[in-house]
Amino acid sequence: MGDKLQFLPGATHLECTYTGDTVESESLQGLSVAGKPYFARYDLSSLRSRLHLSDLSGKRSDLWRYEEVLPVRNRDFQISLGEGWTPLLDSPRLASRMGVGRVWIKDEGQNPTGSFKDRGLSLAVSRAKELGATELALPSAGNAGSAAAAYCAAAGIPVHVVVPMDTPSPILAEIRSLGADLQLLNGLITDCGRLVKKGVEDHGWFDLSTLKEPYRVEGKKTMGYEIFEQLGGRLPDGIVYPTGGGTGLIGMWKAFDEMETLGWIGPERPKMFSIQAAGCAPMVLAWERGDLEAATWDNAATYASGLRVPAAVGDFLILRAVRESGGAAVAVTDHDMSDWVDIIGKDTGIFATPEGGAVAAAVPVLMEMGALDSNAEVVLFNTGSGLKYAGASPII
Ligand SMILES: *Cc1c(COP(=O)(O)O)cnc(C)c1O
Repeated sequence: MGDKLQFLPGATHLECTYTGDTVESESLQGLSVAGKPYFARYDLSSLRSRLHLSDLSGKRSDLWRYEEVLPVRNRDFQISLGEGWTPLLDSPRLASRMGVGRVWIKDEGQNPTGSFKDRGLSLAVSRAKELGATELALPSAGNAGSAAAAYCAAAGIPVHVVVPMDTPSPILAEIRSLGADLQLLNGLITDCGRLVKKGVEDHGWFDLSTLKEPYRVEGKKTMGYEIFEQLGGRLPDGIVYPTGGGTGLIGMWKAFDEMETLGWIGPERPKMFSIQAAGCAPMVLAWERGDLEAATWDNAATYASGLRVPAAVGDFLILRAVRESGGAAVAVTDHDMSDWVDIIGKDTGIFATPEGGAVAAAVPVLMEMGALDSNAEVVLFNTGSGLKYAGASPII
């Protein structure tokens, strides 16, 4: 696959994740008619004979190394700032402290704007530009706002970003500096979403909200491909993921299905662990009850702003992946997150986000539950750089 073709195969169509209904993929699409997320589908069976793990070794060191299974068709529209292909860091001291077999930290703090939101927004902005969108908008808990601002600046497309007033100040400074139209709202991300919806209706903005367009999840799915490639062609026993809208967890679960169709793996899957904040844990509550969908969480409160998401449009997809993988959903307090940010720091040299701290804090809980044993090899997601949360402190 060393050739440098201008045009890539791209997706074949979009499929509703709820009904299975399909639509074409070459015009701008939001949610399906059923009001659910679309997944992009590819001609994986024809790639099966052509795309092997060994073909990837000479490829570029960002998420576009997986361009054959991404939706952008024309390479000129790959809007890139060097996102993805983040290190998977073996963390033996953290592993022995936790009493598990092996721990790797996938350090997403090394993305261009310091969080893994860059993966999703790189894809979404690239594809929106390729399909002719001229003005973009999104509600955000913070980091998606900076990522959107960065990729829209790189693409030369105006973007409107609506975030809660108490978003950490380094993130607000970043969004402003990157030239986005920033609006602050006294409310949560769901309230910000209503303001964006109004802009979409009144001004024809294209909505980049999590899972409300089909391509942010395509960017996030590359984390699943990367873990497989970085482990030399295998998957870990467990993946511990801090869940807000759940795009990354849903994306990795999709990636594993694609990798099976490509013939890279069999039916085996890692256990998927969804970690939330005690002050905003709709997925944990639904999982404990055995529900297929999650109810909106009232009075969401946590300093892990990425986890302050009271309702997620992909709730059924998160819960399905957790259930089918034999995983679990667990909530931890802000104070535990904060303690574990410092433990990660001392044991590994990584300055984690509160969300990264949440994931580490959950491991002892998962062991206590019997969901992880002392031989388990796990990947923990540190989803961003602790620098983005300067001045933020635990709430509950
Ligand atoms: C957005 C965000 C999360 C949650 O990610 P989802 O894919 O929306 O579940 C976790 N951590 C950080 C730092 C984030 O910005």
